[in-house]
Amino acid sequence: MLEFLLKLFDTDDFPARWHCGRWSDGHGWLHILSDLSIFAAYMAIPCVLATFVLKRKDIPFPRIFWLFVGFIASCGTVHLIEAIIFWHPVYRLDGVVKLITAVVSWGTVVALIPVVPRALTLRTPESLEREVAARTRELAEEKAKLEAVLASLGVGVVVVDTEGNVVMANAASQTLLGESASSVAVGEWSERYQFRQPETGTALGADEARNVVLHEKQEHTDRDVLVRPMGGDEDAIFTFSARPIVSETELGVVTVFADVTQRRRTEQELQRANQELARSNADLERFAYVASHDLQEPLRMVAMYTELLAERYEGKLDEKADKYIAYATDGAVRMRRLIDDLLVYSRLQSDAKPATATDLNELVDDALQQLAAGIESSGAQVQRGELPTLVGDAAQLRQLFTNLIGNAIKYVSPGTSPVVTIHAEKNEQEWVISVSDNGIGIDPAHSARIFEVFQRLHGREAYPGTGIGLAIVKRVVERHGGRLWVESELGRGATFFIALPAT
Ligand code: ADP
Repeated sequence: MLEFLLKLFDTDDFPARWHCGRWSDGHGWLHILSDLSIFAAYMAIPCVLATFVLKRKDIPFPRIFWLFVGFIASCGTVHLIEAIIFWHPVYRLDGVVKLITAVVSWGTVVALIPVVPRALTLRTPESLEREVAARTRELAEEKAKLEAVLASLGVGVVVVDTEGNVVMANAASQTLLGESASSVAVGEWSERYQFRQPETGTALGADEARNVVLHEKQEHTDRDVLVRPMGGDEDAIFTFSARPIVSETELGVVTVFADVTQRRRTEQELQRANQELARSNADLERFAYVASHDLQEPLRMVAMYTELLAERYEGKLDEKADKYIAYATDGAVRMRRLIDDLLVYSRLQSDAKPATATDLNELVDDALQQLAAGIESSGAQVQRGELPTLVGDAAQLRQLFTNLIGNAIKYVSPGTSPVVTIHAEKNEQEWVISVSDNGIGIDPAHSARIFEVFQRLHGREAYPGTGIGLAIVKRVVERHGGRLWVESELGRGATFFIALPAT
């Protein structure tokens, strides 16, 4: 190795360039000074490049820059040796340095070629600036839209950063709090606006209060809090929702709040009214039940003795007495029907059975059997289509069909026999069952009224009845989560529809 190095610097085999050929001083020094100048420049350029690459860590293709540094520096060295050779003919060293320069130069070429297409796609600072300007404009537009939306909202919206500072607050937040939301750190809201439990009026614990506005423990929606807005002399119920804003990391929280004082009051009143209604309904049902139940005993007595009177004294007293006895008997029969119907109606709630899968075909057949006498005497034809099996209270549904089919047979036009059709059809979520007849029909003006208790469209003389049958039907349908309506015209028959959930 040492030998090789010594050989490199061995000049014995060559004359110095001054002695090789006939150099004039001017010509020789022109070469020497030019080579030295090129050498100096070729050394300065890599220094500048290296400094640049070391300082700008983000420049693209740094490897290429380092290759340029090596390639230019080796070119410079070749020129230095060219100048030295005028005195010291180190041609061997010159050759090796030229070889190194050639290798580094080709290395640079090879590395440069694949870089060119990528370099061509690099954007110029101008195009980047244009893009940044466009993006900035878009952002400003989005911000303006967001601000317009926030300003037009009737609920308070504040955005809080991770330190608890309000960084955005809309106009409604100021109206609701009675002062600018940004002027008070959110952590102090509970003390400043006297956060309390709406039910008890007791102050919220510090942790709970912070969670209401800052979602420190868990995200929540619609948390009611009693507050006293700044400058106000009345408490209000605010409902708060707090949600974290998360991009790559958590950026803060958006807290939304609205004054729901009026809404909560109305809800409470509604709830109270509902409870009151439910209680009075229950009372009424109890009353109807007790009344009809307790009336049965004295009614039985009246019926029994009027029957006895009729049996023993009919034709034995005068004509008037016979008429009075007949009225009393008729009255007792009607009262029995009324009481029976009232009992059925008032027991719909208390005697309800758990819902089970119920075959409506069987129920309708049962009802027809129950109505057999009326069907036979009127000569009615009843057509029953295929009906579904539904989940419900079998006894109540049987009562429903008995009432509807009973009416269809009863409200027949004079001189005709009833034709009754029972049919079922399924739509998306429910079964619609219809009971239609060819009877006297109903004026559409009364199609809602007939479902109320004791609402009758005819006198007792024309068609007997209590006015409770359809009220029972309505109640049963409602208890099964269904709907009920009638389609009819006077003199053209009537169709009653019952829509029941298909599940
Ligand atoms: P009721 O039959 O005992 O009078 P309902 O509650 O069953 O009581 O019926 C209320 C009223 O609706 C009846 O009085 C009658 O006027 C009318 N109505 C009920 N069903 C029919 C029907 N199928 N056709 C014509 N009218 C009817």
